[in-house]
Amino acid sequence: MPASLPHPTVPRSYPRLLSPLDLGPFEVRNRIVMGSMHVGLEDRPGDVKKLSAYLGERARGGAGLIVTGGYSPDRTGRLTPRGGQADARTLRGHKVITREVHEADGRILLQLLHAGRYAFHPLSASAAAGKSPLSPFRARRLSRRGVGRTIEHFAEAAGHAIEAGYDGVEIMGSEGYLLNQFLAPATNRRRDRWGRGADGRRAMPLAVAAAVREALGPNALLSYRISLLDLVPGGQTWEETTALAQGLVERGVDVLSSGIGWHEARVPTIVTSVPRAAFVENTAALRELVDVPVIASNRIHAPSVAEQVLADGQADLVSMARPLLADPHLPNKLAEGSSNQVVACISCNQACLDKVFDGKRASCLVNPRAGHETELVLKPVIERRARKVAVIGAGPAGLEAALAAAERGHVVTLYEATDEIGGQLRMAARIPGKEDYAQALESWRMRLAAAGVGIRLGVKPRGRDLTGFHDVIIATGVAPRRIDLPAEGGPQVISYADLLEGRAEAGDRVAIIGAGGIGVDVAEFLSAPQPSPTLDVDAWKQHWGVVDADEEHRGGVTTRPSAPARREVHLLQRKETRIGAGLGRTTGWVHRAELRHAGVIQHRGVTYRHVDEQGLHILEGEEAAVLDVDTVVVCAGQVSVNALAEEVVAARKGRAPRVHVIGGADVAAELDAERAIRQAVEVVAAL
Ligand code: NAP
Ligand code: SF4
Repeated sequence: MPASLPHPTVPRSYPRLLSPLDLGPFEVRNRIVMGSMHVGLEDRPGDVKKLSAYLGERARGGAGLIVTGGYSPDRTGRLTPRGGQADARTLRGHKVITREVHEADGRILLQLLHAGRYAFHPLSASAAAGKSPLSPFRARRLSRRGVGRTIEHFAEAAGHAIEAGYDGVEIMGSEGYLLNQFLAPATNRRRDRWGRGADGRRAMPLAVAAAVREALGPNALLSYRISLLDLVPGGQTWEETTALAQGLVERGVDVLSSGIGWHEARVPTIVTSVPRAAFVENTAALRELVDVPVIASNRIHAPSVAEQVLADGQADLVSMARPLLADPHLPNKLAEGSSNQVVACISCNQACLDKVFDGKRASCLVNPRAGHETELVLKPVIERRARKVAVIGAGPAGLEAALAAAERGHVVTLYEATDEIGGQLRMAARIPGKEDYAQALESWRMRLAAAGVGIRLGVKPRGRDLTGFHDVIIATGVAPRRIDLPAEGGPQVISYADLLEGRAEAGDRVAIIGAGGIGVDVAEFLSAPQPSPTLDVDAWKQHWGVVDADEEHRGGVTTRPSAPARREVHLLQRKETRIGAGLGRTTGWVHRAELRHAGVIQHRGVTYRHVDEQGLHILEGEEAAVLDVDTVVVCAGQVSVNALAEEVVAARKGRAPRVHVIGGADVAAELDAERAIRQAVEVVAAL
């Protein structure tokens, strides 16, 4: 069963989150910061209108302060060869952005980000020569003159930002980018003034802050994103971090924004399995030491979590980047007392960061309009044009279709054969580390009720029952694929749905057939520690080897402690490729690390033969083997369930109803919630 978590969508008041704050040069209307997040619209000048629409919608939705995605101060620091650069020409085009945000009474900072050795191009340069695990290019060592030029470039870029109408800039000093590379002994081995000892390693970031402050003048805001925990061996100690923070404040930084973990860190920092507000202790400790406001970040995904962080005095503002991708109107909804209407971000990264890291435009799994504001428009319909719409199936596709149609003004009835909404997503919420997925369902439930959707649970209509509708949207989802596995006694053979829905229990020795997303999830379901470390920050930190950042444990990481295996789990696939290779860029490595840590035995290149009293007989390559297991869980993908579509067509009279098949019912081979939800919105937009 899903662990019980506090309810984030219950309407309540948010006095601290909604109170204004004087940041020095100006006041922000509330404590909600849309933290910097690259969405893939920053790099092409031709996309500036889309970027403006995207950011403008968040400003109209009430965000107190918005920080753009990162722009490099020079060519060397670009993330990619054509990555966004804060030069005069590019930023002249940004006046449309700053105007749109200011018209909505918002405030916006441009983020200056030098990629250093994370750059994906041959010009990359860093404190020392070397290659990061993230880029194929070896960075050259910046010469002393090069360091000086880079500092000047930051200052020039800040000046261009002000000319473009920005309210200030944020210097990206965390996540393992250039300034962070200067700070860590692991990446700064210089013997000159920019690297000898901790003072020398701090000199470059401090010089950047001073130069940018001067370029901005007194009326613009200077935020610095500081790495509070590097989470890489050879990173900074806490003492060094606090000395940096104090130096930054002395040089005129107005706000310190928390950054946690380098991109190459082998500790997850933002995925769903990270506990809520897991790193806020570090922000709170910083707040005690500096007299400027501090911004907390990382897994502050729900307003209730954000309000608590402020109530506990752990931060002055909270960064909610992905939550504002999911719901641009989150601040206004809180102000209107309708927090239960907030679209819940589930920290899945599937449609946002995974896309960006693949060089694509970001969107949001639960809000496909994010980043596509000008292209995917849901126009309201007038009452006499409203259509009667039946949606069949309350998985993610059906839920979103029903909601979007009702919000447009159509009259919607949602049918679900079982007694609960959620479909495959309900099963996902049972996986340890994915507990927060249940919030997406709760959010849909609340919004469907407010939108006036009639929900008929436990009802399975036939084609003839639906002829009175103008449109029937078939979102009947999928069924687990059955495989041909001859069996003569021996282990029980069950489907993942049997297991996750509680119709069957696994024994002590389990073989999982199929290592796609669900096979990996099931392996974690069967092997993860209990209770789920996600529900307890201290247990989670211990699980991942996160410790205080001192001389002995620079960067705040140590070896993960081993954990006793809960049961013997074998994960099998026919392919020869690495297990879990098809998982998301930002989440796949976390799952693979968890499987290794839990001792899940992985088999590739497998042929399944049969089961009998001895267990599961397989060929592993050419070699025959028997896995002595008591349970076989089949996770071999799904098949579409859509026979109802033909029934409706056969039963319909004249031209109505129109039939639309969406989600897994349409394509099971690529069943994923992101595609299903986007398709739902696209179909409804065209009704
Ligand atoms: P899937 O990703 O298609 O994986 C099913 C696996 O089963 C295949 O990779 C295939 O691997 C194996 N298989 C297929 N037909 C088989 C057969 N006849 N006999 C034996 N093995 C067979 O499907 P899924 O794991 O059910 O996931 C469904 C969707 O949910 C996917 O789109 C996935 O992205 C999404 N999802 C993602 C995550 C995540 O990212 N963490 C988690 C859950 C679900 P071989 O052919 O190599 O054996
Ligand atoms: Fe949140 Fe997932 Fe949407 Fe990203 S794609 S904003 S993580 S719900």
